[in-house]
Amino acid sequence: MQSLGKMMARPLLVSAILEHGANQFGMQQVVSRETHGSIHNYTFRDMANRAKQLANALHSLGLKPGNVVGSIAWNNYRHLESYYGVSGAGMVMHTCNPRLHPNQLAFIINHAEDEAVLFDSSFAPLIKAVAPLCSLVKHWICLSDKTHVPTVEGVDIKNYEDLIAPFPALFDWPDLDENSGAALCYTSGTTGNPKGVMYSHRAIALSALSACLPNVLNISSQETVLPVVPMFHINAWCLPYACLIAGAKLVLPGPRLDGASLYELMESEKVTLSAGVPTIWMGLIEHLEKNQLAFTTMRRTGVGGSAMPKALIAKFNDVYKVDVRHGWGMTETTAVATISNLSADEMHLPNAVRHDMVAKQGKSVFGIELKIVDEDGNSLPRDGQSQGELMVRGQWIVENYHKAETQALVDGWFPTGDIATISPDGVMQIRDRTKDVIKSGGEWISSIELENAAAAHPQVAMAAVIGIKHPKWDERPLLLIVRKQPDFTDKQDLLAFLEQRVAKWWIPDDVIFVDSLPVGGTGKVQKNELRLKYGGLFSA
Ligand code: ADP
Repeated sequence: MQSLGKMMARPLLVSAILEHGANQFGMQQVVSRETHGSIHNYTFRDMANRAKQLANALHSLGLKPGNVVGSIAWNNYRHLESYYGVSGAGMVMHTCNPRLHPNQLAFIINHAEDEAVLFDSSFAPLIKAVAPLCSLVKHWICLSDKTHVPTVEGVDIKNYEDLIAPFPALFDWPDLDENSGAALCYTSGTTGNPKGVMYSHRAIALSALSACLPNVLNISSQETVLPVVPMFHINAWCLPYACLIAGAKLVLPGPRLDGASLYELMESEKVTLSAGVPTIWMGLIEHLEKNQLAFTTMRRTGVGGSAMPKALIAKFNDVYKVDVRHGWGMTETTAVATISNLSADEMHLPNAVRHDMVAKQGKSVFGIELKIVDEDGNSLPRDGQSQGELMVRGQWIVENYHKAETQALVDGWFPTGDIATISPDGVMQIRDRTKDVIKSGGEWISSIELENAAAAHPQVAMAAVIGIKHPKWDERPLLLIVRKQPDFTDKQDLLAFLEQRVAKWWIPDDVIFVDSLPVGGTGKVQKNELRLKYGGLFSA
């Protein structure tokens, strides 16, 4: 018989992360750009004290462990305190995406059974729209002092500062089961209603620890970390936890995520590491190029959420000397599941080869396993060629959706809805999402690869490729372009550029110049909207 290990079974808890951060790195800074523009600065210790005041305040409102507290907020210090105060006290922090339609927002607030909702004052119009639809919510709490509390007709709004002020900065964090729910996040619901993913304390702690590893984001007390990725979606990739584990200075950007505002914050706070979706980095690089600026301290960026174009990787690396860590993950994977990084030998490869490698989504991090399967669920070889649906399993992968009646897993693996290849050395490349892949004449065209190729054209600011119904080929690609200069109109030049980079039969049947592309709440191009608008183009 196998003998059991004789080690303590201490639970991995969010409160333990806070205590560690406050006790080991108590004087480390949290800098936060507020909704109203001012900069707020305090220490991990101050933050932990206020999180305890909040935990007391929530108790005084009658909330108990297991209750759900919603948040509709930007990345700022009160939101951070809520992350710890709510989960630490055994309640569930339900982060809501403010860019959802009010009906969808009300749906997730009701589905999660939020008893209280914490919100930034700038979301008052949203509260006005959703409050009448959310009868279960007993407390609407504005993350501000009393001078910034909005008036919303028919809604009784408390302010955070007055709520927590009477309470001591002492709280006995409960010794919870590490498998109990700590945070809840809903998928963006591009197809059907959003689905809730309930993260356990254990999943968060493990994922945050993983984020700190040198091969992942390499977070230590020498770093200053700016999570641009929102705290309202997938826990900002667990960075608010990872920084307290590692003792890294945390810089929270608030609502202003344009290139100029981010650059200014990166420089003034000496940010060394940031993380966000590619659209954010496009805005930042554009600002740097236009104003001939350079980074003083930035040296690494985590990027994911959608494919990072190779051309942008090259700019970051070669021009701005910033190392790009390209990761893949989804709401269902808590945070980063795979990440690209290079070995010491690979670092010496020619630039273009290195950029190609980083443009792939990389190797799975320890704890996460991947496989790809065909339509019948059979495993496909790891040969870098065979492509199939990506399946994932691991300690911080969803097992089932919140309150779902059907099973999310297939034979113990989570089907991601992404189409990928895996190379013999474990490098995973996302080729498409199942719903975005273009099926032309029985073969697959990767919209991501086409977009990547188009993004390298000097006149292309942003590119999206969608499959359009075609009478002969089933589907054919259409390329939509946001130009850098409006007087560029040469479609043939663009197509010729692509011909040098992809197979001839992949070349889009048409190019449309647009002023902008519809970008959703998490910074991804909304291809559903494009398909609705342009879907009939080739069938006429
Ligand atoms: P949704 O976009 O449906 O709300 P998520 O925000 O959870 O869901 O995003 C997960 C999806 O984003 C993945 O399934 C994948 O399609 C896409 N994605 C994430 N990271 C990358 C990446 N680095 N490259 C390509 N696609 C990515």
